[in-house]
Amino acid sequence: MQRDSFFLTLDEVVRTPKRFALITHVNPDGDAIGSSLAFSQLLRKLGHETEVIVSNDFPGFLAWMPGASDIHIYEKNAPLCDKILDQADCVVLLDFNQFSRSGLVQDKLSGLKTSKILIDHHREPNLDNFICALSETQVSSTSELVAETILHFGEQYLDASIATNVLVGIVTDTGSFAHSVFRPETFALCAKMIKYAPSYTQIHQLVYDTFSEDRLRLLGYSISNKMEVLDDYATTIISLTKEELARFNYQPGDTEGVVNYPLSMKKMVMSVLVTERQGVVRLSFRSKGNFSVHELAQKFFNGGGHTNAAGGTLTCSMDEALNLLHRVLPEYREKLLQQ
Ligand code: 5GP
Ligand code: MN
Repeated sequence: MQRDSFFLTLDEVVRTPKRFALITHVNPDGDAIGSSLAFSQLLRKLGHETEVIVSNDFPGFLAWMPGASDIHIYEKNAPLCDKILDQADCVVLLDFNQFSRSGLVQDKLSGLKTSKILIDHHREPNLDNFICALSETQVSSTSELVAETILHFGEQYLDASIATNVLVGIVTDTGSFAHSVFRPETFALCAKMIKYAPSYTQIHQLVYDTFSEDRLRLLGYSISNKMEVLDDYATTIISLTKEELARFNYQPGDTEGVVNYPLSMKKMVMSVLVTERQGVVRLSFRSKGNFSVHELAQKFFNGGGHTNAAGGTLTCSMDEALNLLHRVLPEYREKLLQQ
């Protein structure tokens, strides 16, 4: 079993003190930061040195997380991050499984001969590059896998910081337990974490009740003014240009969650959010049931992710991205309407 061999190898790796570099994906979300910090905190308790590296900064609503201020942002200090990676005895990739998802770290990571470990829950991993991998898609989040890894070493390693980081990861990747909960163990793990974390309500508020007025108005505008409802495809599309984002004083993370709202309409199966970023167009996909946005994102939008949540990036104009999206929808019409 993959899990058994992962733990066997990990036990061997942590037997002697090491320097670990932990990397998570570009545009990090709650699970990326939560799983990296929790795993880093475990490794430190096991007697290792750790550093966490991420390509670009994370949204303000994650900045309070225990240990977040120690994370190295590659975009802000590449030489230091390169040095950490050069000196590491072992590199751990969390919450992504393709080097290209590490953003600016990609080139450095690809050239690195150091032993690598993977902990991830995305689809279609290439496991060739790793000495061991905990790669499972039937879990809510990478944080859930990290929680299981911590419990493999023993409940004595849990504390308020670790439990808080794990809970943020699970809560954000499941939309507060609304989706991606595939097995009862997810709740059992959370119950255990809640014993150690200070307050679940407080964690939830720190993540979700942090909107600026601009952010809430951008959400309202996105739904009232920009949501295109395509009943023929059970699909909605929201597009936001650079100018529109600027009008609402866009800050990183401000569009987080916007893509989920259209699926609260009973008959909708897929929701797409298209945003214009520096030189690229970013697409966020969400779906219900068996309709795989991973496959759609992978085939047409240079991306992927999970069956019900995926992302992609195009190097083109907003209009071209929207045209492509409209062009590919007929291919999926039958599957969309079957749900
Ligand atoms: P989001 O829409 O929130 O950016 O991403 C949804 C999910 O898809 C997340 O789990 C994220 O890690 C994954 N994802 C987003 N963009 C990409 C991408 O370009 N490639 C892959 N493989 N996964 C992605
Ligand atoms: Mn995740």
